[in-house]
Amino acid sequence: MNLKLLNNLLKNEPKYRLKQVYKVLFVDFISNWQEATVLPVSLREKLNQEFPLTIKAEIYRSKNKSTIKTLVELQDGLKVEAVLMRHGSRNTVCLSSQVGCPLGCKFCATGAMGFKRNLRVGEIINQYLYLARYLKNNFNKNNKITNVVFMGMGEPFLNYENVIGAIRTMNDKDLIGLGARHISISTAGIADGIKKLAKENIQVNLAISLHAPEDKLRSRLMPINNKYNIKKVLLAVDYYIEKTSRRVMFEYLMIKDTNDSPAQARQLAQLMRMPLHFVNLIEYNPNAKDKFLPSPTANVKRFEDILKKEGVAVTKRNSFGQDINAACGQLAIKS
Ligand code: SF4
Repeated sequence: MNLKLLNNLLKNEPKYRLKQVYKVLFVDFISNWQEATVLPVSLREKLNQEFPLTIKAEIYRSKNKSTIKTLVELQDGLKVEAVLMRHGSRNTVCLSSQVGCPLGCKFCATGAMGFKRNLRVGEIINQYLYLARYLKNNFNKNNKITNVVFMGMGEPFLNYENVIGAIRTMNDKDLIGLGARHISISTAGIADGIKKLAKENIQVNLAISLHAPEDKLRSRLMPINNKYNIKKVLLAVDYYIEKTSRRVMFEYLMIKDTNDSPAQARQLAQLMRMPLHFVNLIEYNPNAKDKFLPSPTANVKRFEDILKKEGVAVTKRNSFGQDINAACGQLAIKS
C-alpha cells in the first residue's frame, strides 16, 4: 500500500476520483479493483495491473473464532504476524512493526528469531487492510476494526517514523479515519521514543512492557533494561504524562515463580505511585519449548489484591488464541 505511487497513478484523473479510490480502499475494503464499480472499467483495469490489491497471507483461527491470526507475506518473502481479536463489539488488531526484533526478551518467541528488518508504512497498513477485509467478508459486513495495538512483532520505537506514519494514515479522516485514542503503542521501554512521542501531538495510548519490579530481574528477562533501566523508563513516562496528561499502562506478564510473589507485588506498587499509572496483569501464553510457565490463578489473584490494597489501579487481561500460538512471534517462528 504505497499511497505515493497510487496518487501518482491518479494524477491525471479528475479531483473527485482520489476520494472515490480512498473510499473503496479504506471504507469498503475491496480486494480487487473490479469490485470498485464506481470507477470506470479502464481505470479499474489499469489499477489492477499497476497497483494490485492482493495481500498474501496464511490464516489460523482459534476454535471459538474469537482470535484470527495471520502470517502476512511481504514482497521479499519474509512474513509478519497480525492478529484480530473479537470481543463483544470490539474488534482489536495487533500489528507488527518489524520483522523479528533485536531486543531478545527471554519470554518472547519473536525475540528468539533475531532481527531481520523494519517494516515500511505500507507494510504496516497492509496488515490492517488484510484483517479489515477478513472481518468484512467473514462476519457481518458492517463489522469494523475498532482498536489497533502495536504489540506484535518488533519494538515500535525502533521503527519510529514508519510506525507514526502508519498511525497518521489510520488516523487521517480522508483515509482510514480511526480515532487516535483507539490506537495503542506498546514499548519495551525505549525512553527516547517515549519522549519523542510526548511531543508528537497525537493522542494515541502508550503502554510500557515492564514485567519486573526491579532492575536485576528485568535485565534478566529484558536485556534492553541494561540500556534503559526502570528509573530511566519511569522518568521518560513522567515527562510523557507532564506533556500529554494521558494515562500510561504498565504491562506485567504473570510468570510462575519468577515475578509473581507478594514481595514483588509490593515492589511494583512502590513504582506505580503516579495517579495516571495503571497496571495490566497479563496471563502468560507459553510456547512448547518455553522455560517459563504461567502463574497459577491463585498467585495472580494474590498479586492483584496486593496492588489494589496499595492503591494501584489494576486490570487483568486474559490470553487470546492459545490454541493457535497467538502470542507474539509464536507462529512466525514455526513457519
Ligand atoms: Fe521484541 Fe517485544 Fe518480543 Fe521484547 S517482547 S523481544 S520487544 S517483540
